[in-house]
Amino acid sequence: MIPRLAELNPVQTLYLDFLDTLKHQGFEGDLNPDYANRVVLATDNSIYQVLPQGVLYPKNTEDLVRIARLADQPRFHNVVLSARGGGTGTNGQSLTDGLIVDCSKYMNRILEINPDERWVRVQGGVVKDQLNKALKPYGLFFAPELSTSNRATIGGMINTDASGQGSVLYGKTRDHVLALKSVLLGGECWDSKAISDEELAVHQQREGLIGEIHRVVNQIFTDCKAQIDSCFPKLNRCLTGYDLAHIRDESGRFNLNSLLCGAEGSLAFIAEAKLNVLPIPKYAALVNVKYDSFESSLRDAKALMDWQPTSIETIDSKVLNLAMGDIVWDSVRDYFPQEEGEPTIRGINLIEYTSDDEQDLKAKVEALCQHLTQIKGQAGKSFGYSVVYGAAEINKVWAMRKKAVGLLGNAQGDKRPVAFVEDTAVPPENLADFIMEFRKVLDDRGLAYGMFGHVDAGVLHVRPALDMKDPEQEKMVREITDQVVVLTQKYKGLLWGEHGKGVRSEYAPEFFGELYPQLQRIKALFDPRNQMNPGKIATPSTVEGAQLLKIDQVPMRGQHDRQIPVDVRQTYDSAMHCNGNGACFNYDPQDAMCPSWKGTRQRIHSPKGRSSLIREWLKLMSQRGTDLNQEAKQVREAGFLTRLPKRLINTVRRDRGEYDFSNEVHEAMMGCLACKSCVGQCPIKVNVPDFRARFLEVYYGRYMRPVKDYLVGSLEFMIPALSRFPQPYNWAMQNPFIRAVMKRFAGMVDSPVICRHSLRQGLIERSVEFASVESIGRLTAAQRQRSVIIVQDAFTSYFETQLVLDLVDLLGRLGFNVMVAPFMPNGKPLHVHGFMKAFNKAAEKNAQMLKDLESSGIPLIGIDPSMTLTYRSEYKDIGDDLPKVQLIQEWLVDALKAFPVKGETTQHTFKLMAHCTEKTNAAPSIRQWQEVFAALGQKLEVLATGCCGMSGTFGHETQNYALSKEIYALSWSEIVNSPAHRGQLLATGYSCRSQVKRLDNQQLLHPVQALLGVVQTL
Ligand SMILES: Cc1cc2nc3c(=O)[nH]c(=O)nc-3n(C[C@H](O)[C@H](O)[C@H](O)COP(=O)(O)OP(=O)(O)OC[C@H]3O[C@@H](n4cnc5c(N)ncnc54)[C@H](O)[C@@H]3O)c2cc1C
Ligand code: SF4
Ligand code: SF4
Repeated sequence: MIPRLAELNPVQTLYLDFLDTLKHQGFEGDLNPDYANRVVLATDNSIYQVLPQGVLYPKNTEDLVRIARLADQPRFHNVVLSARGGGTGTNGQSLTDGLIVDCSKYMNRILEINPDERWVRVQGGVVKDQLNKALKPYGLFFAPELSTSNRATIGGMINTDASGQGSVLYGKTRDHVLALKSVLLGGECWDSKAISDEELAVHQQREGLIGEIHRVVNQIFTDCKAQIDSCFPKLNRCLTGYDLAHIRDESGRFNLNSLLCGAEGSLAFIAEAKLNVLPIPKYAALVNVKYDSFESSLRDAKALMDWQPTSIETIDSKVLNLAMGDIVWDSVRDYFPQEEGEPTIRGINLIEYTSDDEQDLKAKVEALCQHLTQIKGQAGKSFGYSVVYGAAEINKVWAMRKKAVGLLGNAQGDKRPVAFVEDTAVPPENLADFIMEFRKVLDDRGLAYGMFGHVDAGVLHVRPALDMKDPEQEKMVREITDQVVVLTQKYKGLLWGEHGKGVRSEYAPEFFGELYPQLQRIKALFDPRNQMNPGKIATPSTVEGAQLLKIDQVPMRGQHDRQIPVDVRQTYDSAMHCNGNGACFNYDPQDAMCPSWKGTRQRIHSPKGRSSLIREWLKLMSQRGTDLNQEAKQVREAGFLTRLPKRLINTVRRDRGEYDFSNEVHEAMMGCLACKSCVGQCPIKVNVPDFRARFLEVYYGRYMRPVKDYLVGSLEFMIPALSRFPQPYNWAMQNPFIRAVMKRFAGMVDSPVICRHSLRQGLIERSVEFASVESIGRLTAAQRQRSVIIVQDAFTSYFETQLVLDLVDLLGRLGFNVMVAPFMPNGKPLHVHGFMKAFNKAAEKNAQMLKDLESSGIPLIGIDPSMTLTYRSEYKDIGDDLPKVQLIQEWLVDALKAFPVKGETTQHTFKLMAHCTEKTNAAPSIRQWQEVFAALGQKLEVLATGCCGMSGTFGHETQNYALSKEIYALSWSEIVNSPAHRGQLLATGYSCRSQVKRLDNQQLLHPVQALLGVVQTL
């Protein structure tokens, strides 16, 4: 039995006092000193792991003021604060052992859009893509680009002075900051913007902190002009934060924002920002240029800058190959044709043009293309190119590039690409030589890596693959960084070209030289006691002995992870490799990832949150000598009664409030819908349902399971018997008293009713046989060729019988010989709830039956996507020799090619709301639906949707009902109720259809039913 985890790293009394006082002073947001929140926010996308004392989620600016004011009181002078947005920093920027102030949860409102004057006012926690979506109707956009645009916040972007593709034209974040509302330590709010000398003089006269800041900063600028000029590099990516070189803008106005942008939360909290926005260029084109070596693409990029593009990005073959192996390649493959006789593509330049004048754009693109044609095949030049016109298509290529960046992290094995020298910048003319030397540093150590970069700005992205659990490899972080620092100096560049400094601030004194004390003066003005994100960028001159962080002296994730035994790590493999890139915090409600986070906005309820908690739990268990693999074995072997008394006692104690960290992990796991969007969409393929099931198995070896788990787990086994007498069952499920009892005591709501017309009856009426060795044996060779076997699942067979019969009818009308496999439990509900032993047993039995049928050579197809995809994912637990059960459309798309339909149909337009598991784990199958519809003369649009909130039985569990409704409201509700879609919507998931029915009282059809309507006219 797993032990109770009670002795953890406790929150220091000082911090508990601080939180308590904040609460009494009316703090409106959330105060989270719980271990789960602390663990989840202990990492970002860096190699570091620093446990904070607690997490604060401020509701508004007043909350920030409350925090800053309280931290200024003498008794709290040792309290340390670090602001946080999306937490996508790559170098520990937002990590702290004090308090995290996460502005993304509540402070994410767009306050004002002024299209006439082209500016917006936003709170610090607004996500960049969220902003651009709101601006789109006005034809405007916020220009600074970054790969993490769907989760990085404006506050984070300002504080790292983020930029990316297109920076040569559009500059960095600070170039678009018009004004900032900051909350300074002490609680004073200050609105900063570019000001005239007269205004500066007025501010300098002020008493107190604001006056002092303006006096001292201006004095530093005046006194140290020569040093500033010589120290700050003249690069597109010049220094971020404390940017003295730009204290006065081109027109000579004084602008404090140059200090605040890029300050990494070390000076103030950014509550609000007024941002400059630009008109979306009307026309765009992308030229994809192919090379036989990465070096050629790099060197040629410099020459291609003469053709005046908006941006040039280079990617190497490693990155390209990763994209090619991912579903994302489906959307762009046509733009990277590999012609007969051409060399393998080893480098690509993506050259973008934008313009408001179509002719101008075309002229520029044609001029470049002529040039490319002329030099084609010359040594060091490209051997081919393609051109993409239009923002929608171009965005697909950029999306591929962004995704490939994430995919770099998905290397197999223990060596994983890690960020520490990932954003160097050198003058573009030096880039190719710099990279060749940089590669040598990595090649000499035999390290694997992928490279891509903004060649136009001289920025290189590279993440060497290291196993940070290995102390020897950990040492390379220091060795390589030191070497790269020397290289950047040699090529007149920067170590921190894009992502900010974070723990790499240790190189700041050396870099700034005699200017560094001025940075310390600035830090001291804002933060005299070193409370604001200490150790980053500069230490305050007022604190003697204050240290900057050192790249090898901050606790690293690998140091934690290596405490978990190898075989346990293997069992929980997918949780181990989450690298914190934050793709699971995608803000977009019309994206499948991750409904439980979107519905709660609690970071513990996200794939990253759950992976972090599991890793910590594994570590704590290992520290207490528990072998979790052994424990799982014992749970499987033990009879129900063996552990019953102890489990009962533990459960009573738990319910009386006895602390156990496993309960915090359990809470996070119970919020998971097991929709599997993380498995498909996380770049690292973190598989929460998999490790969640393993966790639940051993957790319930210590505690009692709720009744609903047994109901759900046994549903597939009981349903055939119940279906023989549907009336009493249905009466019970519809009886208000029994429903109330079910809700209160069994933990289930709105249980569906069994269809009264049985499948067996329907098949008999249609003379359709159940598949068996005998019935298959009776088929002629010609019949066999056109035969298909439908694999039943409990949900459609018993609760939506008509759909199975409609599929039989559709396939019959299309000329196929349909058979139906005898019903056998699939086991998925067992897996979801961690009944691993029972799942394995059910899966083995079912797999054997299906393998026997499959040996006839007749294809097997399943109706419900989630149940069908179980055969290729969860079933891997029982071995590799699995039956191949295809989704309907996967099979039908080819079957219709082999046996085309004759006759004309009337064209209709349908709109598909695909099941999350299907669209994220079998993405090409969505396009296959479109092909199937096209083959029958129909148009099928695929709608972007999030999760419906039902996901199997999740939404039927009492404890999840409210969240299930909340998730539905985020995305589905509006689409389902929109008159624009009336009568056209189709849904592939049983769960989705039943959710729409229960919450909006509408019956959506399955695509099969729409097609049946179509072929009936044939
Ligand atoms: C896969 C990947 C790709 C990336 N690509 C790019 C890229 O193309 N370009 C780029 O510039 N960066 C890139 N980054 C780095 C990162 O996404 C950016 O630095 C981003 O701006 C951070 O935003 P965030 O909201 O996640 O901030 P966080 O990581 O939460 O915080 C970043 C810093 O800002 C501070 N901060 C956050 N909010 C506030 C606030 N309200 N007030 C005061 N301080 C605050 C924090 O204290 C911290 O120091 C990438 C990261 C990853 C993982
Ligand atoms: S779960 Fe996946 S998407 Fe989320 S932070 Fe971890 S690696 Fe990134
Ligand atoms: S399975 Fe779905 S709900 Fe659960 S963590 Fe993954 S994306 Fe989130």
